[in-house]
Amino acid sequence: MGRKASFICQLCGKDAGSIAVIDNDHVRLHGLNDRTEIANSEAFKAIDNSDARALYHLNEEYVSFYCPRCDCFYCNEHWKKRVLFDDGFYDATYGECPAGHERRMDD
Ligand SMILES: [Zn+2]
Ligand SMILES: [Zn+2]
Repeated sequence: MGRKASFICQLCGKDAGSIAVIDNDHVRLHGLNDRTEIANSEAFKAIDNSDARALYHLNEEYVSFYCPRCDCFYCNEHWKKRVLFDDGFYDATYGECPAGHERRMDD
């Protein structure tokens, strides 16, 4: 236990998010959303290495505040977020990083 990767904002040094192993099949996400997700040994290895890029490629929602083009994290305040609705229902959240890169943060 205690396996966790935490990431800080490139601009202000504040907490941007984290991902922690909770049991053999799950991780706990903290960031845009706090929730539990399914994970596998590849994800656990990436957490041990604090490898955000690997986590992003496994599941982009593992690291919702990571910008793959900047290869760094930004906190909640530094992402410009856009929530999309489809027929009145929540569809997805997109974000633009301070350098102007857009990514899907949640879906
Ligand atoms: Zn960026
Ligand atoms: Zn920040």
